[in-house]
Amino acid sequence: MNPVQAAVTVALGTIQTGQDHEGMMTRVNLDQARKALDNERTALVRQLKELGADERGELTGEMEFEDAFADAGAATAERNETLTIIENLKTELDDIDAALVQLAEGTYGICVDCGEPIPVARLEFRPNSVRCVSCKASVS
Ligand SMILES: [Zn+2]
Repeated sequence: MNPVQAAVTVALGTIQTGQDHEGMMTRVNLDQARKALDNERTALVRQLKELGADERGELTGEMEFEDAFADAGAATAERNETLTIIENLKTELDDIDAALVQLAEGTYGICVDCGEPIPVARLEFRPNSVRCVSCKASVS
């Protein structure tokens, strides 16, 4: 291990043990965050599967609305509604995956847009936050 790798290892170790990192505001429990993200991801994938989509939001088969609705208009409305739900679940899943990448890279808790630390309270409330409140607001 060269000195640079050693320094990186030490730095990561410092963050992961939750010790104060030169006054950094983010001191979120990374193990807890990873667990929360894993659980949420599993739940989202299950919901997508129940709606007939895989974890990329792609429909895996024919949706079974045609038989359930005699009225084609109602079937279409139901179908569109389901597609909207799938789209929303997919967005959540993307955020989770992005947050998991940040965890792996040691940048968890840093806004992907402005590079500012995301407040710990926000991360604890929504572990898949990859943007601070103001950047999130300008995205959505
Ligand atoms: Zn930001």
